[in-house]
Amino acid sequence: MANSRYEYVRNFEQPDNLLPSTWLVVRVDGKGFTKFTTKHEFKKPNDIRALDLMNRAAKVVMENMDEIAISYGQSDEFSFVFSKDAKAYGRRASKLMTLLVSQFTSAYVFYWSEFFPDTKLQFPPAFDSRVVMYPSDRIMRDYLCWRQVDCHINNMYNTCFWTLVDKGGITPKEAEKRLSGTFKKDKHELLYGFDMNYNNELEIFKKGSVLVRDKVFVDVVDRQNVVTKREKTVVKIKHCDIIKDAFWKEHPEILG
Ligand code: ATP
Ligand code: ATP
Ligand code: MG
Ligand code: MG
Ligand code: MG
Ligand code: MG
Repeated sequence: MANSRYEYVRNFEQPDNLLPSTWLVVRVDGKGFTKFTTKHEFKKPNDIRALDLMNRAAKVVMENMDEIAISYGQSDEFSFVFSKDAKAYGRRASKLMTLLVSQFTSAYVFYWSEFFPDTKLQFPPAFDSRVVMYPSDRIMRDYLCWRQVDCHINNMYNTCFWTLVDKGGITPKEAEKRLSGTFKKDKHELLYGFDMNYNNELEIFKKGSVLVRDKVFVDVVDRQNVVTKREKTVVKIKHCDIIKDAFWKEHPEILG
């Protein structure tokens, strides 16, 4: 690199290394997706194509950043949890966040037509991102619990809201009024009134998506046509509870 008299401006750059030995969580969230989903005629409350596309983009991110231990997605957001000892980009906050969110966004656009073959993208979507450090396993797990509970609460509300509007024939304003102050039990009963059982809703809607790494054996054929088994790590998508201990016992490798 040639040294010029202008090199000194580099000294204005601020270091932004994240603390060592802490869980790092990068969360991306769609910018203005209330409008984006209307413009692209998403099925309400849940367009499964959009959730599958989010998962596809998240898979690209996980395949490119192997220190991500687990990811969790719901609605227009995705959280990526880097293991405590992750070393990527010297743990520089801006490098991690910006590379992750731009990779996620470009994958979202790259795969759009695969999931929405009949819907033209009306404008280039954007996602924001933040990175947060969590100092203990418990707090990192509580972070994921927070997001999954958020998914559950919003989904229950939205399922009731759109049932009232679509099947009950009332206006969104009236539906909002009808739901204000209602508890979980009331919402279950409301849905029963429309011959619906909330428990029968799709798991991806109720629980969101959990991406973990899994080892599988694949057949490899060599030049002599001899087939051997080789272990390969793949990203698996699940729609399970991550709040209770069972999940963490089933995946001891995440906490390390
Ligand atoms: P901001 O830029 O502040 O995030 P936003 O409009 O994106 O604004 P959010 O709180 O992120 O606000 O809400 C996301 C919106 O996108 C909600 O209205 C949600 O219902 C909608 N949405 C997200 N995913 C889907 C989906 N798969 N199907 C239908 N609607 C969806
Ligand atoms: P990093 O991820 O660290 O940025 P990099 O390979 O992108 O790695 P840069 O220092 O950013 O490294 O260099 C960009 C490279 O892309 C250079 O090799 C440059 O010649 C090449 N490049 C960028 N724009 C063009 C262009 N318009 N035409 C041809 N080559 C280009
Ligand atoms: Mg937001
Ligand atoms: Mg959003
Ligand atoms: Mg959101
Ligand atoms: Mg470059």
